[in-house]
Amino acid sequence: MLIIQTTILNMNTTELKSKYKVFLGTDEAQPLISQSVMMAIQWREIMSRSNIHFDTKGVNVKKINKKLQTRISLLPITPIGLVNQCHTNTRVFAEECGMEKVLGFNICACPCGRFMNYELHSVNRKDGMMCDLTKDFDNLREKYFLELKTNMTALEYINKYGRYKTIASINKGCSCKVDWNTNGVWDIDEHILQEHIKEIEDNA
Ligand SMILES: [Zn+2]
Repeated sequence: MLIIQTTILNMNTTELKSKYKVFLGTDEAQPLISQSVMMAIQWREIMSRSNIHFDTKGVNVKKINKKLQTRISLLPITPIGLVNQCHTNTRVFAEECGMEKVLGFNICACPCGRFMNYELHSVNRKDGMMCDLTKDFDNLREKYFLELKTNMTALEYINKYGRYKTIASINKGCSCKVDWNTNGVWDIDEHILQEHIKEIEDNA
């Protein structure tokens, strides 16, 4: 059973946008703005060289084992925050708008759905509803998300497990002929991911 959250966030997005605009004027935000622009350019370059896109549309939850599948939500994206700055974005919305920060993994897949990337990601929660407030590289408006039941921050995660483990790659027999270099990713089986999630939550 997949949890689909389609309810409109019970909050005025005008307020979220105006608070975020204030953040964009701070010294902290300036290098992040440049970084986001660079990342978006690089992303477009990579995508222009390949026909194989990994995104929300490729995800087929039936190809994910039941234990993980039941923990995955399909969240609406409200694209206010800078691309690729989800952890900072959620912190800003938590501090400025009284929302909760939620750490987890977003899931993208290749067109056949058998090659999945679980990427460390942050979203917010308000009144029990999760919402992704970070603009997607491909302007998608929904995202698959697996919440980690932990108070660990993204930085604590990276310090403990290494940046290398911020993207787990699971290939269950992809037939898409992925034509870019996948070396250096954390290439694991689904059960290793489950053990990893369990370890995070047991130590929460
Ligand atoms: Zn595939």
